[in-house]
Amino acid sequence: MNIILTLLLCLVFSLGACAAPAAPAIQPDAVGLSFTIAFVGDTHSHLDPVETLIKISGKDTLLQAGGLPRLASVINGLRAKDEVLLLHAGDALFGTYYFIKYGVAADVDMLNALGFTAMAVGNHDFDKGPEGLVEFARLAKFPLISANIEASGKPELQSALKPYTVLTVKGQKIGIIGLTTTLTPLLDPSGPGVKFLNPAETAQKSADALSQAGVDKVILLSHLGYDLDLPLVKSLKGIDLVVGGHSHSLLGPGAMKELGLEVAGPYPTVIKDSEGRDVPIVHAWEYSRALGVFNVKFDDQGRLISYQGSAIIPIGDDIKQAGPGGQYANLKVGSAEYDALLTSLKPAGIEVYPEDKAIGKLRDTFYQPISFIGDKVAVAEVTLNERDLAFLVADALMWRAKAAGLKAQFSFVPVSYMRGGSIMQGEFTGAPVYEFMPFESPLVVCEVKGADLKRLIELMVNNPSPYIIVKTGTPYLAVSGLKFKVDNSQPRSVIDLQLDDGGPLDLDVTYRLVTTARIAKGMFKVAETTDFIDSQVFIDYARSLGNLRLVSEQRVQGW
Ligand SMILES: [Zn+2]
Repeated sequence: MNIILTLLLCLVFSLGACAAPAAPAIQPDAVGLSFTIAFVGDTHSHLDPVETLIKISGKDTLLQAGGLPRLASVINGLRAKDEVLLLHAGDALFGTYYFIKYGVAADVDMLNALGFTAMAVGNHDFDKGPEGLVEFARLAKFPLISANIEASGKPELQSALKPYTVLTVKGQKIGIIGLTTTLTPLLDPSGPGVKFLNPAETAQKSADALSQAGVDKVILLSHLGYDLDLPLVKSLKGIDLVVGGHSHSLLGPGAMKELGLEVAGPYPTVIKDSEGRDVPIVHAWEYSRALGVFNVKFDDQGRLISYQGSAIIPIGDDIKQAGPGGQYANLKVGSAEYDALLTSLKPAGIEVYPEDKAIGKLRDTFYQPISFIGDKVAVAEVTLNERDLAFLVADALMWRAKAAGLKAQFSFVPVSYMRGGSIMQGEFTGAPVYEFMPFESPLVVCEVKGADLKRLIELMVNNPSPYIIVKTGTPYLAVSGLKFKVDNSQPRSVIDLQLDDGGPLDLDVTYRLVTTARIAKGMFKVAETTDFIDSQVFIDYARSLGNLRLVSEQRVQGW
């Protein structure tokens, strides 16, 4: 059952041109070392900005957040002031059409151009198999690190990865240790011959090795997730700070929450290690929407003595706001209203930045974001969130199954299959489709007994797994061709399972359902495979409809 739950989830030392003429009276730091860490995690092939919805004084407001060329501008500004260690906390790959079309190449090329210093291996960095990760490491101009990956069964991979790396900043050595989620084999195709060892033990081993080698400043670059970073730190010694990813956590002040952003904790979140020393933990959200900035200062014993920073969310100057009728209109750049809005965003770390021209050019000329996505697919009559989309995907699967004569009686799409994306009101291309459903998973027909289906849905109803990325109140499962109600007396149960064609579900009968291979894995017995790819099925379905609207019927009640 564990598998089921899991499946549902889902230096460049630009020697700071800081030749700021120091007044003779000011002494340079007599001891210690200070520098700037800039970082991202879970960029997931998001080279372009991400349309991001916030609420300002009750008004829905759309921002164009981040994108690698815009993050580059922020990084350039930091490099002009200080030496910058640029880190990636893992999961560079997978999530947009760039990955579907170019594999590892577009991401690694862009990260090289930004001048990354080191990157932790994330589970999704295995999405093209161990061979894809070897290719990534071969192309990357920065080391890929993970202390808990044991790949002696895959010698090429073993030699492509390192447990840690040592970099020199202002003449002093900094150790950086990588960690990878041990759930990787369940989530992504890391394949046989690759083991994921205990993170705490392996991180401590690397920290001890660094200490013995005289490296007294150590950063842990963790792709375990925020919730696991906290207890991990308590058990370790010799780690000065943690830069993390995997959980897509945004850390920051109340000002972010006031805009409707989901904030997981303070930036940094400080935890005491096994020797009682404070260890700050920082994360910086997802999809290249934010850049984590952390200025650190060490004393001459290698102890972290001060730090400060925040997640910066750089946005474009095209800001849209919903009027009383729900229609979005651009705010006029430079108007009083626009300026007031920017002022109100500052406390949340949201500021307008241009895209860096060189990095933008690399993306636009070589990777051509628009041309391959194609033109208009359909029109969304309203903005469709992940729940709405899951039901539409469920309908699309049934539509395709029917047309192909697959004899499926219903479809099954966990809302967590949608990767938190949305389709904004208005005309849309294939781009958002590849973002909310980037798996390229083929349709399959599965067989399931009525009683097993009921048990499975009840398991989902009673186990809101941390791996299911859903918002509160969102039904976890979308279906088409089937209806049911949830009885919320404990433990919660599923009642009134009804098929659209055939009345109540018979617990003793075996049914045929349509879903995707990725969803079916470990959950259902696959009876028939097809060549229909999920995203293409959705695009074809949307084209056939012309206009997308909410699926209004109450197929799932009480959940
Ligand atoms: Zn991950």
